[in-house]
Amino acid sequence: MLPPNFLSHLKDVPGINLETFVKAHQIASLTSIRKHPLKSQTHFNDNKQVPWCSSGYYLQERPVFTLDPLFHAGAYYVQEASSMFLDYLVRKIFPERKNLRVLDLCAAPGGKSTLLASLLDESSLLLSNEVIRTRASILEENVVRWGYTNNWVCSNDPKDIGKLKGYFDLIVVDAPCSGSGLFRKDAKAMEEWSEANVQLCSQRQQRILADVWDALKENGVLIYATCSYSREEDEAILGWLQSEFLVSGFEINVPTEWGIVESKVKDLIGYRFFPDNVNGEGFFIAAIQKKESIDTIKAPKQKSLHDEKQWLSSKHLLIEKDFRCVQDQPNEYHAIETAHEQDYYLLKQFVYLRKLGVQLGSPSVKDWLPSHEIALSVDRCQSLPIFELNKEQALRFLKKENFEANQLPKGWLLLTYQGLGLGWIKSLGNRFNNYLPKHWRIRMEIPDEEWQ
Ligand code: SAM
Repeated sequence: MLPPNFLSHLKDVPGINLETFVKAHQIASLTSIRKHPLKSQTHFNDNKQVPWCSSGYYLQERPVFTLDPLFHAGAYYVQEASSMFLDYLVRKIFPERKNLRVLDLCAAPGGKSTLLASLLDESSLLLSNEVIRTRASILEENVVRWGYTNNWVCSNDPKDIGKLKGYFDLIVVDAPCSGSGLFRKDAKAMEEWSEANVQLCSQRQQRILADVWDALKENGVLIYATCSYSREEDEAILGWLQSEFLVSGFEINVPTEWGIVESKVKDLIGYRFFPDNVNGEGFFIAAIQKKESIDTIKAPKQKSLHDEKQWLSSKHLLIEKDFRCVQDQPNEYHAIETAHEQDYYLLKQFVYLRKLGVQLGSPSVKDWLPSHEIALSVDRCQSLPIFELNKEQALRFLKKENFEANQLPKGWLLLTYQGLGLGWIKSLGNRFNNYLPKHWRIRMEIPDEEWQ
């Protein structure tokens, strides 16, 4: 049951109908997924589509995703339907989506980042940031699984990123919030809700926005979102932005039949999602344009760090494209798009990069050790030696166990499931070594019926 102090707090929320809102909280929420545009072909096509996102689908029930090898291959991402509205906003504001520098500031576990990566042209660069280290590793895993070379990951405080003056065309701030929009999914969040926490969140949201503001270009766009219903974290933040900075809004046509409520703060528009009006959870999102002039920071002039020797040993792993090979850590090489070489020199001065382009792996005495990232990369060469697995073999591989397989050719083999890369083994003919990174393995016990 929704707490009475929470309900009275919602009284003045624009567009709310408390009676139907309360009823909607007696119904379970729907599970939804968003398909990978390049990895997932026909999966889920018979399901009902999310109205504002053509790759989003509702599921009839919630399966155990851990037991689906397609989930591990990055064929889809499990994401709440309302938050997929980001797809609609970005398509409207940036119809071409080319040559953009995009920051996802509060990115873990990676829902908005994987959505943005699917939208952007490869000339664009997406930097996904998560300040909390433990959450940054989950983000990194999800971004690697999604497989885009132009999606890099860092772990920094918004203040560090604010030093990249005038660098980004788009900054998405999916802010930490009091979480009331997710009460149907998270009963614990409901128990912990308080007005005092709403105030704390509102102050923190202002601090985060103020810290990162300088990193936005003149005419660049800030997309601000929360999963809170509280005005203090939604409309009041838009009002605060107007009082602190020179900003303007966008006129975007949103079909009324989608049930999204438009909430105006002068010329800025917040889009509110209520579970009694939409098939989705509570969500707030707004797009704001910066109207202040600011010089864009430039990369320092420096000689290319491209390593031709290591590139010649590893380039067979990727499709033919204009890449540079750079070494970021000892004995660890990455391919980045040549168009992003200058970005690398600039960014590495300011942020701690956890994922950079696609990791190629490292040289060994006799051959090249391919990295796990290659197996999941959308830029992977299509003619590498592969071995297609059935479901049982795939799950055993993902548990980092041995599985039965006859007549494996010798050498490095990329394992696939329904044609999608899962990871590497090195075959010695009659046995093999499983190269799935330890922290990626499935830890749950697999019920007997799943082996069929
Ligand atoms: N965008 C994510 C997605 O779609 O999967 C969800 C982001 S969640 C709503 C907010 C994130 O902000 C959390 O991962 C949290 O760790 C992070 N965060 C918490 N405090 C922060 C701070 N002071 N500055 C920046 N991010 C913060």
